[in-house]
Amino acid sequence: MTPGLYLPGIKINRGEMILTITNTYKPATDLGYLLHKHPAKLQSVDLSVGQAHIFYPERSEVKTTVCLLLDIDPLTLVRKSRDNTGDGFMLSHYVNDRPYVSSSFMSVAIAKAFSTAMNGKCKEKPELVDLRMPFEISLASLPVPSGGEKLIRKFFEPLGYEIELNRINLDEKFPAWGESRYFSIKMRNKVTLRDLLTHLYVIIPALDYHKHYFISGDEVDKLLSKGDRWLKDHPAREEIIRRYLVNIASLSKNALKRISDDDEIEIDDEDEKGEEKIRKENLHAKRLKIVLQELIRTGAETIVDMGCGEGKLLSLLLKEKQFARIVGVDVSYRSLIIAKQRLKWDDMPSRQKEKIELIQGALTYRDSRLKNFDAAAVIEVIEHLDPERLKSFERTLFEFARPAHVVITTPNSEYNVRYNNIGENQLRHEDHRFEWNREQFRGWVEKIAERYGYKYRVENIGEIDQEAGAPTQMAVLSYGN
Ligand code: SAH
Repeated sequence: MTPGLYLPGIKINRGEMILTITNTYKPATDLGYLLHKHPAKLQSVDLSVGQAHIFYPERSEVKTTVCLLLDIDPLTLVRKSRDNTGDGFMLSHYVNDRPYVSSSFMSVAIAKAFSTAMNGKCKEKPELVDLRMPFEISLASLPVPSGGEKLIRKFFEPLGYEIELNRINLDEKFPAWGESRYFSIKMRNKVTLRDLLTHLYVIIPALDYHKHYFISGDEVDKLLSKGDRWLKDHPAREEIIRRYLVNIASLSKNALKRISDDDEIEIDDEDEKGEEKIRKENLHAKRLKIVLQELIRTGAETIVDMGCGEGKLLSLLLKEKQFARIVGVDVSYRSLIIAKQRLKWDDMPSRQKEKIELIQGALTYRDSRLKNFDAAAVIEVIEHLDPERLKSFERTLFEFARPAHVVITTPNSEYNVRYNNIGENQLRHEDHRFEWNREQFRGWVEKIAERYGYKYRVENIGEIDQEAGAPTQMAVLSYGN
């Protein structure tokens, strides 16, 4: 199952990452002084969720290579994420999330293993600190999202790196399985070691985008101190900052302001509100209001918001006294972090905190945490599921979790012609896997109602166009009386 990458004696698993740095500047063994790590010894540093090992697979006057191997213990990772729930913010990782988080641990590992070098200190040979040396860097098993190759080049090339990229096959014995989201990268650059390390520290997590820890104001400080010699002049600095800070606009703005001499800094057009964007936001607000009314009308006291995203519905639910227990579930860790901020979790009175819980989880797996709710909201979520997973979702929700009431919304594809920025055969959002017309949605709801013993109603949300119908369609399903 592993991509089968080999380094002297080590087979790399998908969740492990390995970084090697090779120096050919004579005497190449100077690398050991610079890193403050003795070339003859295997050394290890503890990370909160495993270890990082540092060793030199190759060392001579002409060529010396140091290797940093990240070894994350999946069980500790799961346990840790549970332990960290102290304030009730539950994040239960699945073991198979491990590959997705390894890259942010790589930054932590670099900072821990090579902190002296990163800070530009070298006791024995201080003259080496500012010396640019010809380094060769290899990174195995780097997780990168789609479009990753462009991003890798965009982030590293302006800093002088020459790059060779290989996407790793899911399994080299079965090329038909296709390519994974893992890259192995070789890079060359003539730089100082301290710059090289800070480049990796900032860019690796910016590429991966999934973070294992909460984003706080500290992250901005860390980013700015590590990037202080180069980030300001990087042509993709906005994107690096935004991705490093997991796209939380307030933090990114703060960081950008602080590195810029220009107070007028604007983050790219994502922040600019086009007409269509305002229209979309208005529709979403309307949709949530209607969903809220439906949920109130059911008389439900406990609600699970499936695919809660950034927590907009949760914050409306929280204001209603009727709801005694509210749980938000989403597969996206990043969204949950934003939801937590939106709910002003840290300042919430404890009585409210007891009412609400955020859980990381996938809706396509049976999950006992989703059971025993009076009602479930599934707002603009089904169209994000792969059609072949829809069946598992149906069973998870209607057969296993089985709330008495379910409110589901999804776009009406017929209405897309009324949007100026959506072309023919295009979907409303790049992450949508499908969009249904009115007949398809009604057909699906009808089938489900029959199969699982629910009564149903289908409603329109938004302005109704005579031909195309309303932009959003909603189904309310209930069993019992
Ligand atoms: N309900 C929210 C968010 C809609 S966006 C709102 O109306 O504002 C769709 C959300 O579904 C995203 O947050 C996405 O992370 C989540 N999602 C997609 N597939 C999922 C899955 N398999 N399990 C859980 N959540 C999923």
